[in-house]
Amino acid sequence: MSYDHFIYFMYAWIALAIVLFPIQLKITAPYGRHASNKWGKSIDNRLGWLLMELISPVIFAIFFLTGDNAKTTPMWIFLGLWMAHYSYRSIIFPFRTKTTGKSIPILIVSSAIFFNLINGFTNGYYLGSLGLSYPQEWLYDPRFIIGIIIFFIGVAINVQSDNILLSLRKPGEKGYKVPQGGLFHRISCPNYFGEILEWIGFAILSWNIAAVGFAIWTASNLIPRAISHHKWYREKFEHYPKSRKAIIPFIW
Ligand code: NDP
Repeated sequence: MSYDHFIYFMYAWIALAIVLFPIQLKITAPYGRHASNKWGKSIDNRLGWLLMELISPVIFAIFFLTGDNAKTTPMWIFLGLWMAHYSYRSIIFPFRTKTTGKSIPILIVSSAIFFNLINGFTNGYYLGSLGLSYPQEWLYDPRFIIGIIIFFIGVAINVQSDNILLSLRKPGEKGYKVPQGGLFHRISCPNYFGEILEWIGFAILSWNIAAVGFAIWTASNLIPRAISHHKWYREKFEHYPKSRKAIIPFIW
């Protein structure tokens, strides 16, 4: 694919995320607490997460490593961040969840595979074959420094929030409780807030349209879902903390 075609493809891909945002505000993806048997056949929840998330690092690595671009230290760092995030999300996270006996619709797994395929491809291909090379000096560029700080703040919030959520159930429990501690003090979905920060950080530190596309898609997926979770908590728990927002502390 030529550079120009890639840029047009990215414009279309980003436009799709923007178009889907209001639709996702109306229709919540039916997994986890929003699961429903109206969405066709399902498979085991952990297997679904493994399948849908593993595709991203595999495709990213293939296009990154087989591309002709000279690989510089900053680029190896980009690869390392992507791999570290997805090793956690696809392998460690699913096996830490207390979701034995729960399932996820094949439709959700398939659409997530498609989403991860495109984002893994666009980011791996851009870095491996298309983008300008990132010289060693990129490591001292304010974009790299600010971006990597935001990325790791996002990782810390995301992992801390996951830990709080995953510790709520005792072995064998399947229900939901009001999470406390960390950023749950301010918002209902700090795990999503952390994830969005991570990918905004990645877009800044790598400063390219493929990474911007992924950050926009992440926000487009997770902001509507956080609003649905927030509404669900308020309906389900009578004494749910009133000052807690959905996804952005003090604001939304
Ligand atoms: P949720 O917050 O809905 O659930 C995370 C885990 O915690 C699940 O195992 C869930 O169980 C459990 N859980 C959540 N709330 C409670 C509660 N109140 N009481 C007890 N257990 C609870 O997150 P998702 O499953 O939607 O997403 C998981 C991760 O994947 C997140 O960190 C998110 O950022 C990331 N993600 C990224 C996307 C992207 O576009 N980049 C898209 C989607 C997710 P159960 O499954 O039974 O509800």
